Amino acid sequence: MNRIRIAIQRSGRLSERSLDLLQRCGLRFARSKDKLYWYGQDFPVDLLLVRDDDIPRILLDGVCDLGIVGQNIALEVLREDDDRELQELRELGFGRCRLSIAVPEQSEIKSIADLEGCRIATSYPALTNSLLGEQGVKAEMVKLSGSVEIAPGLGTADAISDLVSTGTTLRANHLTELDVLFESTAALYGQMNRLPDEKRLLLERLLARLDGVLQAAESKYVMLHAPRDAVEEITRLLPGAEHPSLMNLESDPDRVALHAVCREALFWEHLESLKNAGASAILVMPVEKMLG
Ligand code: ATP
Ligand code: ZN
Repeated sequence: MNRIRIAIQRSGRLSERSLDLLQRCGLRFARSKDKLYWYGQDFPVDLLLVRDDDIPRILLDGVCDLGIVGQNIALEVLREDDDRELQELRELGFGRCRLSIAVPEQSEIKSIADLEGCRIATSYPALTNSLLGEQGVKAEMVKLSGSVEIAPGLGTADAISDLVSTGTTLRANHLTELDVLFESTAALYGQMNRLPDEKRLLLERLLARLDGVLQAAESKYVMLHAPRDAVEEITRLLPGAEHPSLMNLESDPDRVALHAVCREALFWEHLESLKNAGASAILVMPVEKMLG
């Protein structure tokens, strides 16, 4: 059957963004709240809604062709066993968090090197062990599936390795963040080499759409008026703009209207420097879709 099956998180931090991303790629699903399988309507791509922890396994077993999951989860499974193979096809930029080492506020552990021989509570033992190994540190992993932050208080570990986004949980448990081991975002994973040719073509179409959506998210359409002799400088000041279009202004022969797509983030500082270079009537608009 020539349909692609994608596993996404059923409910949690990644669910909404994963679904939104796929919908922006033009995918529509016949869905029902209690069903775990959503059938793709206009495009032969179906969804399986599962716990995020199950996604790498589901891909390795060939139950789904693609999956959206945090790099933290995927790498944990891959680092457990070198023979397992999953390809990261695209970083998606949401679900950002960091895997950090934290220690009790009064701890003697002041650096990563001090962790040598210590007990570290974590839900990511393989990933933590391998990242510490890269820094020449060997510690003992205490695997916990949740509430890792209470382990030092209970005396079952000297430090923890856990996901942090704001640090509130750490502070509430009197822990200090010692160092960041790994920065994670959600990513699209798959096993390209297992895909039959017909599916591969479908996947390529889907990836082209996905790239368009990911690029459009950063891109802005900029319109402004510029002195004719400052066009070159103004083009240079537009981040990631390639060939702007120039149009004559009926009312002012010395100025032109300039339209360009900026493919990198555009900040107020950029607008200010454009203004200083002589630009006026600067308008910045979001780009919804992009292809080619
Ligand atoms: P499930 O029921 O699917 O197993 P979960 O409770 O394990 O859900 P979530 O808390 O929804 O998972 O987190 C999913 C992913 O979101 C994490 O694996 C991580 O990649 C990312 N994430 C982003 N910020 C954070 C954070 N502050 N804490 C934990 N995970 C975060
Ligand atoms: Zn989970």
